[in-house]
Amino acid sequence: MLNKKKFYINGKWTDPIKEKDCYVIDPSTEENCAVISIGSKADIDAAVQAAKNAFESWAFTSKEERLKLLETLYANYKKRWADFANAITIEMGAPKDFATKLQAGTGASHMKSFIRYLKEFEFEKPLGDHAPNQRLIYEPKGVCALITPWNWPMNQVCLKVMPALATGCTMILKPSELAPLSSMILAEIIDETKFPAGVFNLVNGDGETTGNALTSHPDVNMVSFTGSTRAGALISKNAANDFKRVSLELGGKGANIVFKDADPEAVERGATRCFRNSGQSCNAPTRMLVEKSIYKETVDRLIKFANDFKVDNPNKEGDHIGPVISETQYNKIQGLIKKGIDEGAKLVAGGLGKPDGLTKGYYVKPTVFADVNNQMEIAQTEIFGPVLSVIPFESEEEAIKIANDTTYGLTNYIQTQDQNKVHRVARKLRSGMVDVNGAGIAVDAPFGGFKHSGIGREAGKDGLLEFLEVKSIGGWS
Ligand code: NAD
Repeated sequence: MLNKKKFYINGKWTDPIKEKDCYVIDPSTEENCAVISIGSKADIDAAVQAAKNAFESWAFTSKEERLKLLETLYANYKKRWADFANAITIEMGAPKDFATKLQAGTGASHMKSFIRYLKEFEFEKPLGDHAPNQRLIYEPKGVCALITPWNWPMNQVCLKVMPALATGCTMILKPSELAPLSSMILAEIIDETKFPAGVFNLVNGDGETTGNALTSHPDVNMVSFTGSTRAGALISKNAANDFKRVSLELGGKGANIVFKDADPEAVERGATRCFRNSGQSCNAPTRMLVEKSIYKETVDRLIKFANDFKVDNPNKEGDHIGPVISETQYNKIQGLIKKGIDEGAKLVAGGLGKPDGLTKGYYVKPTVFADVNNQMEIAQTEIFGPVLSVIPFESEEEAIKIANDTTYGLTNYIQTQDQNKVHRVARKLRSGMVDVNGAGIAVDAPFGGFKHSGIGREAGKDGLLEFLEVKSIGGWS
């Protein structure tokens, strides 16, 4: 078992002030794979003080100094790519190939992308030709608390750490206590890259003690959080006391509108996007809205697809999905599948229990419910497992109405060959992102949601702006 009990504070690996162990469980074996520490308020105080001290000089470094360090960091990330992928497989059960290409891969893509945007970003500029003596200066927000979940660990961590470093902020990262191992490798390469002490700090811990100490700390200027809507609301309340800037990336319940003229791969592609990462993606299209005239054949295709969809050990190579993160999550998913059956949705594939031959590990059967009504709990609650709800619709207006009838608004999907329809529907969907015909959302496109899916945007230029305050100066010449 790995011993990962130290924190990274003020440029050093340090012991927790008060020992409190927490075991990291490999979801494919249900066994402990590492031990970490739960950070106390005193550990957070030390990390925040280090970040506050470092901000005094780091905030005033030149863009060129920061770029040089970020380029070295990216090179170091690529050297440890296999270690990141391996850690992600162990900590959250992403199968080898998926962990290498997508999980570790998205971290690298964000690093590369933020380096590009930093090169282009103008930290100082005139307001405009009409006002030459008015100067705008973009300044780092200050000490940032970066709190991340377990489902896309390096994607989410790099979406926060990179723009924070790029803009001159200092930070305390608290990764998910369920999947902290990849973040600890990131701390190792930040150390190796020789960022000034205190710029980046990592304190492991839970939400209740460590997360709470961070978000209520008076010297934290900004909280960037990705996780559940429940925790997002608590964090906002904490932050409100001293007007911390808050950026929230929360849950989703994406609709995938499949019109009768959808391309031939649309149905299977939609199911793949729902099931991949074992259904643990905030932007997963978990409600498939299908036009009535193709409803029956679509359900038949989904039954076959789900029954053939492979679930297996994440340590094997291949394009299967692995287990879900934890026993709690497994039980929550089972409870919602049971709820779907009780609510009267038609279970057509998968269902309760583990897939054949996978008795150990938190494996869930790829599951499809047909004839779902959008008022049912399985259509409204974010299940965060490989469970697809199929809902019929008659008209374009009805499809839009159902898609928007949710508290969430992260990503919706449209499948049609008619570009006029795409334009009409995309404009009416209340979500931060709309993915058409499997085109995907670019790595540097603004990522974030409407409604209960969050506040703010990550990635690309918008991702840099989240970590900056703008100062207006009049009388500049
Ligand atoms: P979670 O909210 O339980 O935990 C996320 C992180 O917040 C963890 O580090 C946890 O320790 C911490 N935390 C929990 N309660 C806290 C509190 N009161 N104060 C401070 N920190 C707290 O979520 P999870 O179960 O780890 O992740 C799954 C959720 O995250 C899903 O709802 C999913 O949709 C969402 N998510 C959203 C996005 C996005 O970009 N929109 C991306 C990934 C995951």
